[in-house]
Amino acid sequence: MRTSHTLIPTLREDPGEAEIASHRLLLRAGMIRKVAAGIYTYLPLGLRVLRKIEAIVREEMNRSGAQEVLMPIAAPAELWRETGRWDFYGKELLRFKDRHERDFCLGPTHEELITDLIRRDVRSYRQLPLNCYQIQTKFRDEIRPRFGLMRGREFIMKDAYSFDRDEAGAKISYQKMYDAYSRIFTRCGLTFRAVEADTGLIGGTSSHEFMVLADTGEETIVYAEGGTYAANVERAETLPPAETSSDAPRPLRKVPTPGTRSVEEVTAFLKVSPAQLVKTILYQSSKDLVAVLVRGDHEVNEVKVKKLLGVAALELADPARVTAATGAPVGFAGPIGLRQVRIIADHAVKTLRNVVVGSNEANAHYVDANCDRDFAVEQFADLRNAQAGDPSPKGDGPLRLARGIEVGHVFMLGTKYSKAMNAMFLDPEGKECLAVMGCYGIGVSRVAAAAIEQHHDAKGMLWPIPIAPFHVHLLPLSQSAAVSATAQTLYETLSQAGAEVLWDDRDERAGVKFNDADLIGAPYQLVIGEKGLAQGTVELKERKTGTVKKMAPGDVLAQAREWLGL
Ligand code: ATP
Ligand code: MG
Repeated sequence: MRTSHTLIPTLREDPGEAEIASHRLLLRAGMIRKVAAGIYTYLPLGLRVLRKIEAIVREEMNRSGAQEVLMPIAAPAELWRETGRWDFYGKELLRFKDRHERDFCLGPTHEELITDLIRRDVRSYRQLPLNCYQIQTKFRDEIRPRFGLMRGREFIMKDAYSFDRDEAGAKISYQKMYDAYSRIFTRCGLTFRAVEADTGLIGGTSSHEFMVLADTGEETIVYAEGGTYAANVERAETLPPAETSSDAPRPLRKVPTPGTRSVEEVTAFLKVSPAQLVKTILYQSSKDLVAVLVRGDHEVNEVKVKKLLGVAALELADPARVTAATGAPVGFAGPIGLRQVRIIADHAVKTLRNVVVGSNEANAHYVDANCDRDFAVEQFADLRNAQAGDPSPKGDGPLRLARGIEVGHVFMLGTKYSKAMNAMFLDPEGKECLAVMGCYGIGVSRVAAAAIEQHHDAKGMLWPIPIAPFHVHLLPLSQSAAVSATAQTLYETLSQAGAEVLWDDRDERAGVKFNDADLIGAPYQLVIGEKGLAQGTVELKERKTGTVKKMAPGDVLAQAREWLGL
């Protein structure tokens, strides 16, 4: 493809709005353009990358036995009402009415639509197992769309749904998808890790997320150093401390702590360690106000709190509610004398003696407070985030933390959707049974962004060959007859051999061409200059390492074949 006839509007300057490499480089290389918050147009180069990822996904899904379908983006509300998600899903679901005042939504995920299809057309155990997938535009009205393709509102997803006769069959379908995902992300050139995950709004019994490891990732994962345990921090279990403190309880005292609010300030002032303080954090659930107690050096895990309370939504109580409930400004809440608020606590709180807690009074804290003696806790549970150094719940070593980008997610759904929507099949005895389901997503557009986060340098992108927009960037450095003729010949030879060549045929300075080529990040650059040609050579350069090989034009094909594996 010639650049002079292709829309590749590269930018010299970094766009101000881009905070992370993938967003910045996709905009600078003219691969995407923003239309509205979280909504983008893919330009030719960006689209080529997406199509490559889609092709890998398609091949591996087909290899696993799944079959491709294409469902509509617009979904009627009735189906979403059948599962209760029309009300439960919240504001991420973009709803609208058609001209007949009928409710619709733009599909953020397609369990309802696929289950409707299967309940109508699959009647016998002989038709199962079945796994249908699609590669399609999804819409989620994300509260904070950001980082370009990483968290869009409109994005491309591969979603698959499996239907089995029983739990054992569903496990096999799940494992097939897990294996297919591992092959897909490996083929895309990504360093990733599969971790145990929370099942969130989709529901179901168990799930794994595929995380691309990158410092800019929005997710925190914990893993056992040298072991096999790995989980999203939302999900990672923590063990209660092995021992209860043997200190003798001392009498409770209230002490002034003027101007101190944060754990650091209070503990520095009182000269105790943060692990000797118990934080009291007030949350507003969809039902009531709840106080969650955790050790000062621990963080509340809201996913675990939501699960324990059985609520879909949980927010920090706003300052007015905190003051109404405690009589003190934010920062001084404590469990002693806290009335009409449910108090739950992390396991670690139970093992402490003589702790510091808020006094529900500004500028004062209690010291030497003891649980059961001074305050009552309704329930102890695992309510905190795992931290580096905690023991792995599987006993395979201390935990470490890393950042990750969630590119894929596999769920075992059980019969949640088949039951809600009555998706039954007849077993060999003619008995009606519920199909056992799984669902499996890959963020195709997010994969492109994740690949850039892992593969870039100061000058631009470093695409892995299988998903690069082009394999070779052909850079003739002048418009002379000899250079143009060699460029033409090499373009044809390489293209015929199956290499994808982007030919910079613009009348631009060498520096401009090199900058654009480095930015766009094709794995190889083929440089043709007057001087080299006079000595009978051209240069083939590996973008990632900068390694340059000079060779006769006639040797380029063999070298490109070797490097590209053609
Ligand atoms: P997240 O936790 O990042 O919001 P999710 O868990 O809600 O994602 P799933 O429902 O598991 O997402 O969707 C399947 C896949 O779709 C995800 O693994 C991710 O790769 C991709 N995805 C989800 N939301 C977005 C988004 N807003 N923009 C781009 N890709 C997304
Ligand atoms: Mg997910």
